[in-house]
Amino acid sequence: MIQMKQVYKKYSNGVMAANGLNVTINPGEFVYVVGPSGAGKTTFIKMMYREEKPTKGSILVNNVDVGPLKRKRVPFLRRNIGVVFQDFKLLNRLTVFENVAFALEVIEEPPKIIKDRVMEVLDLVGLKHKARMMPDELSGGEQQRISIARSIANRPKIVIADEPTGNLDPETSWEIMNLFEEINSRGTTIVMATHNREIVNTIRHRVIAIENGLIVRDEQRGEYGYEG
Ligand code: ADP
Ligand code: ADP
Repeated sequence: MIQMKQVYKKYSNGVMAANGLNVTINPGEFVYVVGPSGAGKTTFIKMMYREEKPTKGSILVNNVDVGPLKRKRVPFLRRNIGVVFQDFKLLNRLTVFENVAFALEVIEEPPKIIKDRVMEVLDLVGLKHKARMMPDELSGGEQQRISIARSIANRPKIVIADEPTGNLDPETSWEIMNLFEEINSRGTTIVMATHNREIVNTIRHRVIAIENGLIVRDEQRGEYGYEG
């Protein structure tokens, strides 16, 4: 599903954010990515959805090496990968419906399929009744639900989330986690960078810890492992 071999990333300013990453993530897994700020977590996951290119090494995602992928092929990669961000990244001039439909329009799905699919995923996240609203009329937790709906609208095999609960209060964070659990239980692979110690130590999954661009720990049903 996702396989990295000897992956290095050097940014243009000389910073080495990946220093020989080797990892295999299998279909259906739920993986937390933890580690101190600046450790290389975001770089690790950005390379999976080809937001950053590795300097060296190979990254197979669904058997496609995403490193050398041409820019115009990236939308087809994204069809198989949903992405959820800490700050939601919704388009504020579009309605909730349009935000979710956007990902499907990009890959030119027929309008009827788009409508059905959007309402289906909005229903799954419990916000079908807010389809006509604008993002800024919603709470943070609701906005994150919309961004999760958007991430799964293409029925991707993989959902990648970068600190999805980072801007949310604890109660809302648990609700968002329950949604990821539900999506994972339907067979979708989840890779989630997080600083949420309580969540990682309660809803147990594989934990990959990154420090200085290297995987320093990789445990099934692991713990968060850092203080604070
Ligand atoms: P984390 O997500 O664990 O905080 P990042 O992957 O964001 O770590 O960053 C790893 C290192 O790479 C840090 O030193 C950071 O400053 C640096 N870095 C991240 N993005 C860039 C960039 N676009 N250009 C230069 N350096 C970057
Ligand atoms: P409710 O649906 O009743 O509002 P919440 O989702 O807000 O419940 O969670 C209430 C508390 O239950 C949280 O503070 C958290 O400690 C715990 N909790 C919620 N979901 C989980 C979960 N999946 N695993 C463990 N504890 C959970």
